[in-house]
Amino acid sequence: MVGLETIMALGVVPRQPARTGRQDKVRVRQAPFSKPNADNKDARVGTGAFASLPRAESRAPSRGKASAAAPKGRQSAAGKSTPASVPKIKGYNPVAAERVAEILKRLDQLYPEVKCALTHANAWELLVATILSAQSTDVNVNRVTPELFRKYPTVEAFAALTPEQLEPDVRSTGFFRNKSKSVVGAAKKIVADFGGQVPDDMEKLLTLPGVARKTANVILGSWFGKAVGVVVDTHVHRISRRLELTTQNDPQKIEQALMKVIPQEKWILFSHQIIWHGRKLCIARKPKCAECSLENICHAADKTWSTVEMHQNAKA
Ligand code: SF4
Repeated sequence: MVGLETIMALGVVPRQPARTGRQDKVRVRQAPFSKPNADNKDARVGTGAFASLPRAESRAPSRGKASAAAPKGRQSAAGKSTPASVPKIKGYNPVAAERVAEILKRLDQLYPEVKCALTHANAWELLVATILSAQSTDVNVNRVTPELFRKYPTVEAFAALTPEQLEPDVRSTGFFRNKSKSVVGAAKKIVADFGGQVPDDMEKLLTLPGVARKTANVILGSWFGKAVGVVVDTHVHRISRRLELTTQNDPQKIEQALMKVIPQEKWILFSHQIIWHGRKLCIARKPKCAECSLENICHAADKTWSTVEMHQNAKA
């Protein structure tokens, strides 16, 4: 007969992580360079190109935060210690052309045809949607703008409003007073100074109320197809740091750093891809590293699962 103490003990003992490194609900991927099995050799994106990367990137998985019982000497995903099985990479340069090219290649495979997620039919609508998207989600903005553009179909219609008149229409996107001021102010300036046309020039765009480089880059890249800079929103900010493409924290400095390491013809697509990556996998609080095809070239300190050494400074 099982005693009461035994039953209670069984009830409170937490589940132990599997010795294989598997975590609940997490698909464990084969470590790079390990012998592919016949069923999954093509399952990972970009594995083949890895032959040219440092050998140290090919070790067995370190286990994530959830794996509190990681074997002694192994690295936890909190990145506090260097795992015994993953030596430091000598001569590692996170912005080496070869590594950046590999990141871009994998992003192309992951997100081949991404574009701006904000619904718009012209440059003005994109400008309004981008202003409204600050501190909000694209989904939220896309819920508001169809009715907004039906009610005020032209830039002149917006220019005829006062900010107070617009406030109820954009209230649900948050910070509605400032956003109303910016949208109406931008409309008035476009009508007064630019003949009702959104300018396709960075300097002119920056004269519009509520428009900084991020918004201007969205308009220039997504509508006019001009690669003048790199859009640095919250996703690009976070992921560029996690991927060690920059150590900067200020959006303008991040943009300058990215413009140095990303080829100009990729500036527009790179922003879209990283924004999608930030929404789908590399989310702020709990990135889905075990599902990410950039995993074995990513050394972010806040990874939730890792096959490679994690770098303390590589974090959002
Ligand atoms: S491995 Fe994790 S932290 Fe690195 S890019 Fe992928 S999801 Fe983000």
